[in-house]
Amino acid sequence: MKLNQTYKPVIGLEVHIELATNSKMFCGCPADHFGKKPNTQTCPVCLGLPGALPVPNKKAIDWCIMLGLALGCKINKYSTFDRKHYFYPDLPKGYQISQYDDPFCYEGKFEDIRIRRVHMEEDTAKLQHTEVNRKKVSLIDFNRSGVPLVELVTEPDFSDVDEVILFLQELQKIIRYLGISTADMEKGSMRLEANISLLLLGSEPNTGSEPVTLPNYKVELKNINSFRFLKKAMLYEIERQKDLLSNNKKIVQETRGWNEARSATVSQRIKEEAMDYRYFPEPDIPPIEVSDKDIKILSDKVPELPQTKRERFLEQYNLSKEYIEILVSDLTKANYFEEASKLSPDMAKTIANAMINQNLDKSYPEPAGLVKKLVELTKTDFSPTPEVGLAIKSVLVENPEVVKSYQNGKGQVVGFLIGQVQKILNGKGDPKQINTILLGKLHGN
Ligand code: ADP
Ligand code: ZN
Ligand code: MG
Repeated sequence: MKLNQTYKPVIGLEVHIELATNSKMFCGCPADHFGKKPNTQTCPVCLGLPGALPVPNKKAIDWCIMLGLALGCKINKYSTFDRKHYFYPDLPKGYQISQYDDPFCYEGKFEDIRIRRVHMEEDTAKLQHTEVNRKKVSLIDFNRSGVPLVELVTEPDFSDVDEVILFLQELQKIIRYLGISTADMEKGSMRLEANISLLLLGSEPNTGSEPVTLPNYKVELKNINSFRFLKKAMLYEIERQKDLLSNNKKIVQETRGWNEARSATVSQRIKEEAMDYRYFPEPDIPPIEVSDKDIKILSDKVPELPQTKRERFLEQYNLSKEYIEILVSDLTKANYFEEASKLSPDMAKTIANAMINQNLDKSYPEPAGLVKKLVELTKTDFSPTPEVGLAIKSVLVENPEVVKSYQNGKGQVVGFLIGQVQKILNGKGDPKQINTILLGKLHGN
């Protein structure tokens, strides 16, 4: 046995995302199943009755492709659906409609992580293991059966647990920016699986350029419904595997879950060999063609992504990293902030501060209301000389169109008005003070 061996974690992710479309993937039943009375949103298609024909949901496909585009993926010109066979009561057809050879999206890259594929499939029914009349039973709710599910698979490119969590948190933000899913983990709208193995460092000739051979096993962490638990599970798993390897023990290829009470990962299912799903082309759904024009339309629909927004907020408003992170984490907040700042660009920091530290955006549903309040609050700090007051008054009187365009939402004209006031004052006058008073007047104070 070698002592002081160092191991490098090798981690690859599989993430499932339930799409927030109105209807299910292959039928017209409502897709929003959370908290609904069991088995009230079903039809022959999603119950898997023989002879029922699936019709793909166009919106779900568009959204899957948009996520792929946001992650730098290539898009297949011809995509096909396949049947993935397995036997389990959550899947009465005996197969899940998924994608195998030709997924909608493939070979993406997000930061340093290679995205293997982003494909479309259908969710299964939900099993509930419970007791009825003191008998143990398993109940099946088909409301979830057939809900559009996107599966995203990364290459095993992570070697650090924090890097995994950061990636997943960023992914969650992107999904929410796209508006394609709530991505709530506690509701199962975003489900995480992490595959982990350990690479013995020094076990490979380190030529630098040659690809490293991956360990010939992996342990799959599954059914973990929070970032916090996933992090704990990965850290535990790395230690457990280290112990086994340094004692020359073999690691069993299996699926493990996280037991919070025991603070440990526990075995759920041992996979001795790769499952044979006997994939074959879904004969009831013709191949789906995606043209360059379709891709262009969809990529135009991808909004500014969180990282671009962070960089722009820093450049445009010079806010602190902490403030930027809080705003960018919540698109509603970010948009509110921008709308308010447009009305009063010089007050961007004050606006961010009022939103973050005083939650004033909650008290003023309209950004203009918050700006007005802040102008009132700051006004008392300034007592302009009569000269300045007079100059402002005359500029407002002389530029009614500009005032009107401000009131119609063109916040940037404030700069012009300040310029005019300073002109009258022969370049004197504090622009900040002029701005504050001007805004007060423009908002009718
Ligand atoms: P399978 O054939 O069992 O589905 P794949 O090679 O397709 O396995 O990979 C499934 C997931 O496991 C991917 O997210 C991939 O990144 C990850 N993975 C593959 N090999 C390893 C490994 N040795 N260690 C950790 N994760 C791995
Ligand atoms: Zn249905
Ligand atoms: Mg799958």
